[in-house]
Amino acid sequence: MAERDYYEVLGVSKGASAAEIKKSYRKMAMKFHPDQNPDDPQAEEKFKELGEAYQVLSDEDKKAAYDRYGHAAFKQGGMGGGGGGFGGGGGFGDPMDIFSQVFGGAFGGGGGGFEDIFGGGGGRRRDPSGKQRGSDLRYDLEITLEEAARGSEKELEIERSMPCSTCKSSGSRGGGTKACTTCGGRGAVTRQAGIFVQQTTCPECRGAGQTISDPCNDCHGDGRVEQEDRIKIKIPPGVDDGIRLRSSGNGDAGMRGGPSGDLYVFLHVRAHDVFQREDDDLFCEVPVPFAVAALGGEIDVPTLEGKASIKVPAGTQGGTVFRLRGRGMPEVGGGRKGDLHIQASVEVPTNLDAGQKEKLREFAESIGEKNSPMQEGFLERAKKFFGK
Ligand SMILES: [Zn+2]
Ligand SMILES: [Zn+2]
Repeated sequence: MAERDYYEVLGVSKGASAAEIKKSYRKMAMKFHPDQNPDDPQAEEKFKELGEAYQVLSDEDKKAAYDRYGHAAFKQGGMGGGGGGFGGGGGFGDPMDIFSQVFGGAFGGGGGGFEDIFGGGGGRRRDPSGKQRGSDLRYDLEITLEEAARGSEKELEIERSMPCSTCKSSGSRGGGTKACTTCGGRGAVTRQAGIFVQQTTCPECRGAGQTISDPCNDCHGDGRVEQEDRIKIKIPPGVDDGIRLRSSGNGDAGMRGGPSGDLYVFLHVRAHDVFQREDDDLFCEVPVPFAVAALGGEIDVPTLEGKASIKVPAGTQGGTVFRLRGRGMPEVGGGRKGDLHIQASVEVPTNLDAGQKEKLREFAESIGEKNSPMQEGFLERAKKFFGK
C-alpha cells in the first residue's frame, strides 16, 4: 500500500497545532468508524490510516521524527536517527484503542449513554440448540439542533419481536423436542451440485437437529412474538447528523431464547431556521439597520441559550463577523464548545417617504471620500476599468 502523507491523511497543514490535529482526527475517525460503515473495506482502511497518522502526529517525539525522516522513521531498521527507530515490530496501536483514547469517557459507561454508540458489535454466533440471535433493527430519528446541543432522552415506539411469555421462549407447549424429520437429526442436509456434494444447514430445524414436537400456539414454535415496544434512548450532547446510536439488545428477540439483536438509531438533525452548523461551530446572519451600522449601537442576536446582545462598532460594514466564543455546539464527550459566528447583514432602508428621501439626498451630497473607505480602495483597484 502506498503510504500517504500523515498530514494529508488528517487533512491538516504541516504547521497545525495539537488541538487542530486532534479535532481533525475526531471528525474523520467518527466518519470512517467501521460501525458507521459496516462492510466497507475502504472505510476500514481509512480508519486504520487515520489512527496511524494520529498516533504519530499527536506524539511530539514521533512527530519530530516523522517531520525529519518521513515514513522511514517507523520502518524496521530504518534510519530512525541516533535514538533508534520507533515502533520496533511494525508497531502501531490498534486503531480502535486510539479511537477510544481520543473519545475518552464518551464511549465508556455513562449509564446507557454513549457507550452504546459504537459499542462492541459482538459478532453473530450460531447455537446448535436452534437458538438464533435476533435481527438488528434500524430506527431513523429526527431531532432538532437544540436537542443535539443539549442532549436528550427519547422514547421510541417500535414494532419488534419479543420473547414469547406463554412458552417462556422455548417455542414448545411442553412436549419437548423430537429429531428433525428433514435431516434425520443431523442438522445438515447434503445436496448434489455437479460433481460436488454440498452440505448446508437444514432449512427445517435451522441446524438444530431437533424440532418442537408440540409447538406453542402463540409463537408457533419460534419462541418469540411481534409486539409494540417502547424504548428509551439517551442522546448525548453534541451529536451530529448521521450518527448512529446502538441500543444493545433492543432489536428482535432471538429464536427460541437466542440472544436479541440490537437496535440502531440513526440520528438526523433537522435543518435549523436560524443557525447553520459546521462541526462544533454555528453560523447566523443577522440584519443590522443601516443607521446602527454607521453610528454603532447594540443589536439582539439569537443564541442556542436564548437572546443575547452584541455591540456593533460605528462604521461596521456588511459581512463583518462577530464571534461569540463558546456559544456553539458542545463537543461530543468533551467539555469544550464551539463558537457562534454572527455575520452582520447591513440593511438598506426601503419604502422611504419624500422627506426621508430628501434627507438622504442631502446626506449623500455631504459625503466625501473619507466617509467611504471601501469605495476609495475599490476605485484604486478598478482604475483601469474606469479609464482614470
Ligand atoms: Zn410461545
Ligand atoms: Zn433438520
